[in-house]
Amino acid sequence: MAVPILGGALALSTSSRPALAGFAGLDQGAPKIRTRRADLDAHLETLRGVGPKVGERLARLGLRTIRDLAEHVPRDFLDWTKLTSFGQLRTGEEATVECVVQRVRVRPTRRRNLRLVEAAVTDTAGSRATALWFNQEWLAERLVPGTRVLVHGQLAAGGTFRVQQHEVAGDGGGLHTLGLVPLYPASEAVSTAKLRELTEQVLPRARWVPDALPAALRDGEAMPLRADALTAYHRPRRLDDARRARERLAFEELLLLQLGFLRRRRTLEQTAEAPALGEDGDLIRRYREILPFSLTAEQEAAIAEIGRDLAGTKPMQRLLQGDVGSGKTVVALYAVLRAVEHGHQGALMAPTETLAEQHFMTVEGICGELRVRTVLLTSSLAAKEHAAAREALTSGEAQIAVGTHALIQAEVAFRSLAVAVVDEQHRFGVEQRRALGATIPHVLHMTATPIPRTLAQTVYGDLDVTEIAHPPKGRRPVVTRWVSHERSAEAYTRLRRHLNEGRQAYVVCPLVSESEAIEARAAEQEAERLRHAELRGFRVGCLHGKLRPAERRAIMDAFKRGESDALVATTVIEVGVDVPNATIMIVQEADRFGLAQLHQLRGRVGRGAEQSYCLLVSRPKEELTDEAKRRLQALVDTSDGFRLAEVDLELRGEGQLLGTRQAGIPDLKFASLARDRHLVVKARRWALDLVEVEGPLDDELERLFADEDHRGFA
Ligand code: ADP
Ligand code: MG
Repeated sequence: MAVPILGGALALSTSSRPALAGFAGLDQGAPKIRTRRADLDAHLETLRGVGPKVGERLARLGLRTIRDLAEHVPRDFLDWTKLTSFGQLRTGEEATVECVVQRVRVRPTRRRNLRLVEAAVTDTAGSRATALWFNQEWLAERLVPGTRVLVHGQLAAGGTFRVQQHEVAGDGGGLHTLGLVPLYPASEAVSTAKLRELTEQVLPRARWVPDALPAALRDGEAMPLRADALTAYHRPRRLDDARRARERLAFEELLLLQLGFLRRRRTLEQTAEAPALGEDGDLIRRYREILPFSLTAEQEAAIAEIGRDLAGTKPMQRLLQGDVGSGKTVVALYAVLRAVEHGHQGALMAPTETLAEQHFMTVEGICGELRVRTVLLTSSLAAKEHAAAREALTSGEAQIAVGTHALIQAEVAFRSLAVAVVDEQHRFGVEQRRALGATIPHVLHMTATPIPRTLAQTVYGDLDVTEIAHPPKGRRPVVTRWVSHERSAEAYTRLRRHLNEGRQAYVVCPLVSESEAIEARAAEQEAERLRHAELRGFRVGCLHGKLRPAERRAIMDAFKRGESDALVATTVIEVGVDVPNATIMIVQEADRFGLAQLHQLRGRVGRGAEQSYCLLVSRPKEELTDEAKRRLQALVDTSDGFRLAEVDLELRGEGQLLGTRQAGIPDLKFASLARDRHLVVKARRWALDLVEVEGPLDDELERLFADEDHRGFA
C-alpha cells in the first residue's frame, strides 16, 4: 500500500492506531451532538410555511429532514450586483439584465421537440430585446406583461437574448439585498424562491451539522468546518466562497466513499481466504508456447501482477482495464489456467450468451491443445445438458467453465473453484457481483470501457487496477468517417468494394429501445431489405438477441468461416465477436448510440492486418444535438478508449457512464468524479491513512451507505 504524503505536522502511519484515537475526536462533546443531531433529523414540517402538502412536494425532491435541506445546495447563482443593459452587450456576451415583460408568446419550431417562449422585454435603461426560453412553455403564463424579471444569458445574433437562468422579481422575498441569489434545484411544485425562504430558516441549524473530518486533516488541508462550508455555500459573499465550500463538501464525500471501499476490502481480506496458487509451471509454459504471438510488455506486466496476487492467500480483487482488442483475453486465460495448474478450477463469466459462446470457442481451442477440459454453462442449455455441465463441475471433470451468470447460481457447485474472471463486469448487477465475491476466492474483473486510473480507484474503489493501454503492435487504427444520411449510398458503395475483395462487413441496425423483440424484427426486416437493395448478390446473415443460442452460434460460425459476407446485426455484436477478415462496418443512425457503445461496436473491425473502416451514418448535422455532434466527432478524431471515456464523462456525467449506481456507489451530492479529479486523488491518500481510525467518520460512513444495507455493505 502506498505511503500517503502527509502535510507537515501530521506524521501518521496506518499501524499507529492508539495514537490516532484523540486525533479523530469530535470537536463537540458527544451528548450535545446527539440532541443536535436529532434536531437535524427533524421533519421539514417543523418549519414555518411547511404543512403536509408542501412537505409532500419537498419529499418528492428528496427533501424530508432539516439536514436534507441544509445539504440541498444551490445549483447556481444569479449575480444581482453586476446588472447591465441589453444596449451595452455585444453578440455572444453573457450577462444579467433586469427587465420588464411587454409581450409574450409560445412559438413552435420546425423541430419536433423544440418549442420556444419568446418575450419582448425592456430593460431598466430602456433598451429592448427579445428574450428566448427553450422548452419551458409553462413560463408563458407566468411572464404576463408588466412582470419584472431578471434574466441571465447570452446575446445571440439578431438581438435575441437566450435565457439560461431567470428570476421573477418579487419571488425572492427581500433577498435581492444580497449580491448573489442562490438558485436551487427546484420543481414545478416547489420553486427555487420557496427553497430560498426555507433554507433561510434552516441555516442557523446547519451550524449544528457535526464535523466528521479529523481536526488535523482540516488544518493540514486548510478546510473549513462542514457547518461553515454549508452556510457559505447557501449564502456566499463571493462566488469563490461557494466554490471553496463545494470543494470542501465534495472532498469529504469522496473521502467517505474511499473509506467505505477500503473497509469493505479489508473486511473481505480478513474473512475470506483463497488458495495460494504457487508458481507458474509446466501448463503455463505450454500455454505460452502455443500462443501464435509473443505477449506485449503490458500483457506481461499484467500477468506478473496477477501472478503475484494468485500466489497469496488474500483473495485477488483486481480490475483489468483495456480497450477492445487490447488483448485482455490472453491474460484472463492465464489466470484461469494458473488455477488448473495447481489442481483447482477456473471460470470465465460473460454478461451475454453470445459473448460467453465466443469466449468458449476461444478457450476450447486453446485448452484442447493443452488437454484441459472445458465446459460451457448458460441458462439456455437444455435441462439435460445443463445438468451434465453442472455435474462435470461438481466432480471436477471439467477444469474450466465458461458461461453467463448461470455459473454463480446456487445449484452450481464447483469442486474447487479458485479463480474467476468476470468479463465486462460493469454489465453485471451489484447483486451478481456480490454473489460472486462471496463464493469465489480470486476474482479478475475485466472492462473494455477503460476509465482514467484515478477514477477507477474511486468507482471501483475496492479493486486494484491493472491497465493495458496499448494494443498489440501491427494493428492499424480503424479509419472512422461520419457520413450524413443523404450520402449513405456512398457508404454502401465502399462496403461493397470490401466485399468484392473478399473481405467481410457488419451493418449495425438502428437502436430500437422498445423491446428486444421489436429490435429483432427490425433487424430481420433491414437484412431482408438490404438483400434486395444495397447488398444484392451478397450473402447476408442477421444476428440479434431473439435468436435461439444454436441459431446464433450457427450464424456466427458461418460468418467466421466466411460463408456469409455481411452480418446485419443489433448491438449484440457489441462485445466479443472476433472476425479478423471483417474490415468495414456501417452503423445506421449512429447518432442514437452512446459514445462508449459506438466505440465498442467499432472494435469489431480492425482486428486483422488490413486497414479497416467504420462509417457512422447519421441524420444531417443541423438536426443533431450538440452532444450527438461532439460524440460522433470524438469517434472520428480518436480511437483511444481512455480519451473517449473522458469525453463521454464530460458529455454525460459519471452517473450514466460509470454506472455508479451499479457499482454500488451512493449518489454523490457535492462531488463530481469528472470535475473533481484532484480531490479524488487527495481523498484516496487520506482514506488510505484513515482506514483504521474510528470516530465520527464512521457515523457518516453509515449514513452515506445507509441505503446500501440490503446489499450487504460491510
Ligand atoms: P480484448 O479482449 O481486450 O478485446 P482480445 O484478447 O480478444 O482483446 O485480443 C484481440 C485480438 O488480438 C485477438 O485476436 C488476439 O488473438 C490478438 N492478440 C492478443 N494479444 C496479442 C499479441 N500480443 N500479439 C498479437 N496479437 C494479439
Ligand atoms: Mg474481449
